[in-house]
This record gives sequence, C-alpha cells and structure tokens, in this order.
Amino acid sequence: MSATPSPTDFLAIDRLLSEEERLIRDTVRSFVTDKILPEIAGWFERGEVPRELAKELGALGLLGMHLEGYGCAGTNAVSYGLACLELEAGDTGVRSFVSVQGSLAMFPIRRYGSEEQKREWLPRMATGEVIGCFGLTEPDFGSNPAGMRTSARRDGPDWLLDGTKMWITNGGIADLAVVWARTEDGVRGFLVPRGTPGFSTRDIERKLSLRASVTSELILEGCRLPGDAVLPEVRGMRGPLSCLNEARHGIVWGAMGAARACFESALDYAKTRVQFDRPIGGFQLTQAKLADMLVELSKGTLLALHLGRMKDQGTLRSEQVSLGKLNNVREALGIARSARTILGANGVTLEYPVIRHMNNLESVLTYEGTSEIHTLILGQALTGMSAFSQSD
Ligand SMILES: Cc1cc2nc3c(=O)[nH]c(=O)nc-3n(C[C@H](O)[C@H](O)[C@H](O)COP(=O)(O)OP(=O)(O)OC[C@H]3O[C@@H](n4cnc5c(N)ncnc54)[C@H](O)[C@@H]3O)c2cc1C
Repeated sequence: MSATPSPTDFLAIDRLLSEEERLIRDTVRSFVTDKILPEIAGWFERGEVPRELAKELGALGLLGMHLEGYGCAGTNAVSYGLACLELEAGDTGVRSFVSVQGSLAMFPIRRYGSEEQKREWLPRMATGEVIGCFGLTEPDFGSNPAGMRTSARRDGPDWLLDGTKMWITNGGIADLAVVWARTEDGVRGFLVPRGTPGFSTRDIERKLSLRASVTSELILEGCRLPGDAVLPEVRGMRGPLSCLNEARHGIVWGAMGAARACFESALDYAKTRVQFDRPIGGFQLTQAKLADMLVELSKGTLLALHLGRMKDQGTLRSEQVSLGKLNNVREALGIARSARTILGANGVTLEYPVIRHMNNLESVLTYEGTSEIHTLILGQALTGMSAFSQSD
C-alpha cells in the first residue's frame, strides 16, 4: 500500500504532468513563495501593485508564454495553465496581470496583427517593458459587448476614435491599449499607445476586490491614430471573443490556485485551533467542510488539466471553456467561503489569505463572462436556442 495521498494532490495529478510542465510549475511556485506571498497582504491593503513586477514576470518567461516567436516562450497550454494556477495561489491580481498581458493584449497582436505590429510590440511586451491592456467593456455594455458605442471612423489616412471603456485591468499603467471599436466595417481592434492625443485614463478607486490590480476607465475623445493602428487580420466580435476564450482557459486553472491556497490555510488552521479541548479539525462538521473542499479542488484541477490537454490538441471548443470557467470559479468561491468559516474571526483579516482570495474571486465570477452568461452559453449549446442575443 502506498502512503496516504497528499491533501493538495490527492488524486496524484502530478503524475499526469510532463517533466517540463512540473519544472515550470515549481519555478512559478517558488517565485510566488519568495516574491509575492511576503508582500501581497500589504499590496492588497494599500491597493497597489509594483510596476517592477512586470519585468520580473517577464524575466521568468510568463508574459505571452503560450505564444510562439517574437520573444515569447512558446510553451504548451497546460504549462501556461499551471503558471496561472500557481500565480493565483499567490493572488488573483498577479494572475490577472499575466492573463491580460499574454492572452488579451499580446494574443490579438500575435494572431491578428501585421508583421510590423508584431515586431514593434511583442518582444517588449514579453519582457514586461511594455504593459498592455484590453479595452472591450463599456459603461453601458458589459455582458453584451457587441452593443458597444466606441466608434472609429476614417479621417483622411487616419482613424478617429471616440468612446469610453470601463473596468479595464492595467488601464492606468498600460503603455499600449488594445481597444475594440465599431467601424463601418464591423468591430475592429486598434493599438492605442499611451500619450496619444485624445486618449486618457482614470483609475477606478474604492474596489474591495482585486485590490492588487489596477482597474481603469479608458477615455477616447477625438483620439487620432495612423491608418496602420488597426489590427488588419480580424473583423467583427470574433476578434475580442477569441481573446476572451484564451484568457478564460487561464482562469479555469487560476481559480483552482486561489481555491488551493484557501484549502491549505483552512486545513492548517483546523489542525491547530483548539476549541472544547480539541482541534476543530476533529469535529465532524469541520471534516465535512474540508472533505467537500478537497473533492471540488481535485475535480476542478482535473477539469483544468483535461481542458488544457484538449487545447494543446487543438480540439477545445469555447463552450467547453465556458463549462470550465463556470464550474471552477463557482467552486473556488465556495471553497473560499467555507474556508473563511473554519478560520472564524481570523478569517476576516489579512493575516490569512482567505478573505483576500474570496473577495478577489467575486471579480473573477463577473469578469470574462459572468457565471450567468456562461450558464446561458451552455444552455444554448444544449438546446440550440439562445436565451441571450449576441450579434456581430
Ligand atoms: C476587476 C475587474 C476587471 C475587469 N477587467 C476587464 C478588462 O481588462 N477588460 C474589459 O474589457 N473588461 C474588464 N472587466 C469587465 C467585465 O468583463 C464586466 O464587468 C463583465 O463582462 C460584466 O459586465 P457588467 O459589469 O457591465 O455587468 P452587466 O452586464 O450589467 O450584468 C449585471 C448582471 O446581469 C446579468 N445579466 C446580464 N445579461 C444577462 C442575460 N442575458 N441573462 C441573465 N443575466 C444577465 C449578469 O450576469 C450580471 O449578473 C473587468 C471587471 C472587473 C470587475
């Protein structure tokens, strides 16, 4: 008989990974232990994230790591997922930074950009010298981005952009915004460098979630861009939706990182906190909570790995990513809430990671498609009928 399974790898998922995947996972885990965990409570409390972090993440090869060429690491999707999991075990804000940079800002340039655009931006984005953001959501169009009002029209050889984007991760610190705008030719993507006249940003204050992440408004008022600022290879909502699909795959993994951190914290606490003369982990109610957390953490991690393998095989469909995002974020939030109860009063302080993860996961439940929208995507896949409309 082998030894009792480890609580954080109960199903021996580790054995399903290649040596290279394990190496990448361990490298990111060490980085999180050394550089993120000692600082994160302070960053969260003060609502800040140091800019140098971008270069450190770049030096590790984590920015655009699943993209090929132009200075990107070119790993497989599972490695990228494992990195997201480990980063989010540190904090969702750090994982969000990497997701936005790699999947939402670099991916559209790599997939839909001209050769010049790729050469100009991708190598510097891979090192973290240039920070990117992704502007799709607007004040009046969140779940229904196809209704966007931001417009781009031709003015001689140039483009003129007008509109407002809202809730944009990294907006205030970005050197380059990928902005999606309505044109007479359908929705198109534009590369808007910081400092372009008519383009400004305003940070959103007083967030109680994702505090170690900058979230901003992008304001475009007669913002003039050269004719070659448009991404040439895509038209329509297919462009931004394909980016979201990339990023959602990272979230499927990342959510399990936040869940694992909460589970570990609760398990540790349950073994040491004594009430009624014995550790609270000895009470059946606490054991039931821990067992449920273990079941969902193990299932969610297996699901992430399965979807990652499908992505690497090129067979993963967006509805399947929706299933993963819906399940793993919902279950991660459930695990965080349950862990919070095990920690009692200590569970509401930043001395422990749990309430920070719990608050962060509230944003993850909403961004990149709310849980309701992913439910409706599955409903549509099952019935062939859309309960929400999404036009191109
Ligand atoms: C911290 C954070 C960072 C973000 N980063 C980015 C970013 O980098 N770039 C970007 O473009 N966006 C970003 N977003 C925006 C995010 O994608 C949107 O918040 C999300 O799409 C939901 O839009 P909304 O907030 O306007 O909610 P709404 O769309 O107004 O939805 C409100 C509620 O109504 C429900 N609802 C809406 N339509 C339906 C329907 N048809 N049927 C049933 N229920 C429905 C929703 O599920 C939700 O519960 C970020 C958001 C947050 C919180």
